[in-house]
Amino acid sequence: MNAQKTLTLFDVQGSWRPLVNKAKARIETILQEGRFVLGPFTQELEEGFARSLDVGHASAVSSGTSGLYLALKALDIGPGDEVITTPMSFIATVHAILLAGARPVLADIDPKHFGLSPETIAPKITQRTRAVILVHLFGNPAPAEEIVELLAPKGIALIEDACQAFGAKRNGKSLGSIGTLGVFSFYPTKNLGGAGDGGMVVTSDEILHSRIRSLKLHGEAAERSFGALGINGRMDEIQAALILLRLEEFESEAKKRVTLGRLYREMLEGLVGLQTPIEGAEPLWHLFSVRLQERERIRDALALRGIQTGVYYPLPFHKVPHLMPYFPDERLETAEALASSVLQIPLHPGMEEADAVFAASALLATLRS
Ligand SMILES: *Cc1c(COP(=O)(O)O)cnc(C)c1O
Repeated sequence: MNAQKTLTLFDVQGSWRPLVNKAKARIETILQEGRFVLGPFTQELEEGFARSLDVGHASAVSSGTSGLYLALKALDIGPGDEVITTPMSFIATVHAILLAGARPVLADIDPKHFGLSPETIAPKITQRTRAVILVHLFGNPAPAEEIVELLAPKGIALIEDACQAFGAKRNGKSLGSIGTLGVFSFYPTKNLGGAGDGGMVVTSDEILHSRIRSLKLHGEAAERSFGALGINGRMDEIQAALILLRLEEFESEAKKRVTLGRLYREMLEGLVGLQTPIEGAEPLWHLFSVRLQERERIRDALALRGIQTGVYYPLPFHKVPHLMPYFPDERLETAEALASSVLQIPLHPGMEEADAVFAASALLATLRS
């Protein structure tokens, strides 16, 4: 029998284990009071979230996807408009643009930090460009400040897709608070994971905030009076109460992610390709990526040692079959090269430092064999 423990890519249950009793008590309160939407926990979560990011307003929504859609609609973006984004992200980023009726335009990524940069965005700007959706991929900051400098004089909005980057900062500023609007996801595996689906849209612009609030309630302007085409995009009260619990306990998990990431960097730097933080960046790793020539051989060898790995993302958007018609003849060499070489190794708050040493050593041994 092989008694070796397995190292999983995520540990969703582990984060909830110490919170089960408190979670039960909150759910019971809500069941007794019957306030299932727009209740006091939702308000407390929104206020605590805005405070933790040092941003003016936060609006709880049903998912990161609906958050991105609502951010675009709050900016009045739709048919005839272009939105520039990355080809390397979760599919929701580009789906939100298409669902809003706008045209997605892809710009290539930077080979070091894996995000968009002013250099790749600039040649894609046209008279129709209304916004850029910048993804802070795997919790690593993309250069949002430099991109704002490029976009602001042209009146183009920056939406930060910080769905993977809650808790990460650049130059002391929280990601999601730098652009016009920031969007977060509380999908269970994200840095701040809920017990199901949830999201948050943040902004310091009062008018955009009130538009988000209205659009997530079918465009409600006053009670039972509807003034815009919106969706049912609010967050459930039980979800808000549980995410609030995770927010209260977030610091220790964040420290663990930082420590494990630092350890991996120390052990692997110079030996394999890594996703590299830019100047002033304080990443909070959602996933830890390495770049490999022989990805499949190494995946198999690590699996035999009980180390689970992931491939995020195997295809850039312009190579995903149902999206290909939107991007005919698109060539984005850095994204394509990353998609065919990237591999994620385990990094989650349930791990000990010894687990990271074990995983990194196994990776290095496999590379040499
Ligand atoms: C998870 C994720 C989303 C979508 O969030 P959901 O809550 O799953 O809808 C959007 N963008 C990125 C980069 C994500 O990782």
